[in-house]
Amino acid sequence: MKVLVAAPLHEKALEVLKNAGFEIVYEEYPDEDRLLELVRDADAIIVRSKPKVTRKVIEAAPKLKVIGRAGVGLDNIDLEAAKERGIKVVNSPGASSRSVAELAVGLMFAVARKIAFADRKMREGVWAKKQCMGIELEGKTIGVIGFGRIGYEVAKIANALGMKVLLYDPKPNEERAKEVGGKFVSLEELLKESDVVTLHVPLLDATYHLINEERLKLMKKTAILINAARGAVVDTEALVKALQEGWIYGAGLDVFEEEPLPADHPLTKLDNVVLTPHIGASTEEAQMRAGVQVAEQIVEILKG
Ligand code: NAD
Repeated sequence: MKVLVAAPLHEKALEVLKNAGFEIVYEEYPDEDRLLELVRDADAIIVRSKPKVTRKVIEAAPKLKVIGRAGVGLDNIDLEAAKERGIKVVNSPGASSRSVAELAVGLMFAVARKIAFADRKMREGVWAKKQCMGIELEGKTIGVIGFGRIGYEVAKIANALGMKVLLYDPKPNEERAKEVGGKFVSLEELLKESDVVTLHVPLLDATYHLINEERLKLMKKTAILINAARGAVVDTEALVKALQEGWIYGAGLDVFEEEPLPADHPLTKLDNVVLTPHIGASTEEAQMRAGVQVAEQIVEILKG
C-alpha cells in the first residue's frame, strides 16, 4: 500500500504509517500537474489546507481509498467527487482545540496587561510604565460565543482563573456548561455583561459579521474582544472604528478577513490591539495530534 504525504506531517504520524507497513512517498505541496503523477498508484493521500484534491486529481488515482486532512477544514478537497468514488475523507477536528484555546487566553492577557505594547516600547528604549496600566481578570466576566470544542476549553481555563462564565450557543450543552461554571444567556445579554468576549464559532452565513457595529456598541467600553475563530466573524471596518473611538478597551486577533493581513492595515496602527498571524493551531502538540489521528484513521481504513 502506498501513502502519498503531500504536506508536512509530524514524524510521529509518519511512524504510525511506517509501522503499518505502508510505503510512504513524501512531497511537500506539489502543484496539480505533479500531484496528478504522484497519485497514480496511491492508496491514500494526506494533505493539510493545501494542496487541492480536485476532481481531476481524484480521477487520476484509480486505487485511492482514503483522503486524510491533518487538521479541520475540508474546503480544498472535492468531497462530491470523493463520495462518487466511495473514497473516505478523514480529518482531525479536535486535535488543536486546546492550543487554540490557550492562544485565545494568551491574547486576553496580552490585551488586558498591554504586554505587546509594553514590549514594543521597551525595544524603542521607552520605559512606558505609566501607559501600561492594565486590568485584572479574576472576578471579571467572560462571554464565550460558540461553546463547542474550543469554547469549552477556553471556558474551563477562564473558570480556573476565577472568571464568571457566560455562554451563547444555539445548541446549548448544559452538562458541559455546568462543568465550567457557565451560564447560557442571550447574545445581547452576553455582549452587555461581559468584560471579555471571545469568539469560537465556525464561519457560516449566520456568523458572517456576527460582531458588527451594532453589537460592538452593546459591549462595555472596558471590554476586550478576542477573535481566534475566523476573520469574517467580525466586521473589521466596524472593529477598527470601535478601537479608534474607544467603544471597547481592546482586541486580540489571530484571524483576519484578509490573510495575510496587509502590513499597512489600520489594525496595525492601533496600540489597543494584539495581532498574531493565525497561529491558533501552531503548537508541537496540536500538529502531532492532528497527524497521528489522521494516520491512525488511514491505517484502520486501509487495513480494515
Ligand atoms: P465546534 O464545531 O466544536 O464548535 C463550534 C460551536 O459554535 C458549536 O457548539 C456550535 O453550536 C456553535 N455555533 C454555531 N453557530 C453559532 C452561532 N450563530 N452563534 C453561536 N454559536 C454558534 O468547533 P471548534 O472546534 O470549537 O472550532 C470553532 C472554530 O474555531 C472553527 O470553526 C474554526 O473557524 C476556528 N479555528 C481557528 C483556529 C485558529 O488557528 N485560530 C484553529 C482551529 C479552529
